[in-house]
Amino acid sequence: MSAHAGSPRSRHFQLERLAEGVYAEVHVDGGWGISNAGIVDLGKQTLVFDTGLTPQAACDLRSAAELLTGRTPDYVVNSHHHNDHIRGNQAFPEAVVVSTARTLELIASQGHDDIDADRKQAPESLAEMKTLVESQDAESRGLATVWLPYWEGILASLSELQLRLPELTFKDQLTFHGKARASQLLATSGGHTEGDCVLFFAPGTGGVLWRPLVCAMPPVPWGLRPRGLSFHLGSAQRIGG
Ligand SMILES: [Zn+2]
Repeated sequence: MSAHAGSPRSRHFQLERLAEGVYAEVHVDGGWGISNAGIVDLGKQTLVFDTGLTPQAACDLRSAAELLTGRTPDYVVNSHHHNDHIRGNQAFPEAVVVSTARTLELIASQGHDDIDADRKQAPESLAEMKTLVESQDAESRGLATVWLPYWEGILASLSELQLRLPELTFKDQLTFHGKARASQLLATSGGHTEGDCVLFFAPGTGGVLWRPLVCAMPPVPWGLRPRGLSFHLGSAQRIGG
């Protein structure tokens, strides 16, 4: 992580400003975050949406949030239980980790098994991806672009990885009434998993125009159920309006 002309830089992601105080952290090829994330300056409090696949990438995400908002993140949201959205939680020891109640159940029941499975599978999978990089077939090389850093990141982080569970849960929605802007989590169960949620933010205090920050999905749309997701987003717009 480095700061260049006031803009945080990382080998794991690039940052995009979506609105004042709201940033998307977007995965870059070769990075170890894999999923995208978000940073919201609520005013006096900072919220980070998803923490990525590895503590290493999450340390850079934390540094970016501190540089952009001037404070250590107060809340960390896990949009769902998949490994590329939760394994950076340990890089935010001061923050309260938030998720839907169902996502907490899924992390608690599956998280350790997922780590054990990765421990067994990672060396072989990484070796396989390294052979695909050299492939003459463009589709195979494309797969390696996604999965090589995934397995690299897993293998590099397993020795220090600690499963950290959400500490604050909600069922349908949760609103942060920030001094600068409000943000709202809306459960979208069925959009991607049984327990996922998306984040909406209002441009300013008292604003009624809610804008969705859908950073939850990986860079490829595996497991995405657009019909379910659009139904829930429609519900959110009604809530916001
Ligand atoms: Zn997922």
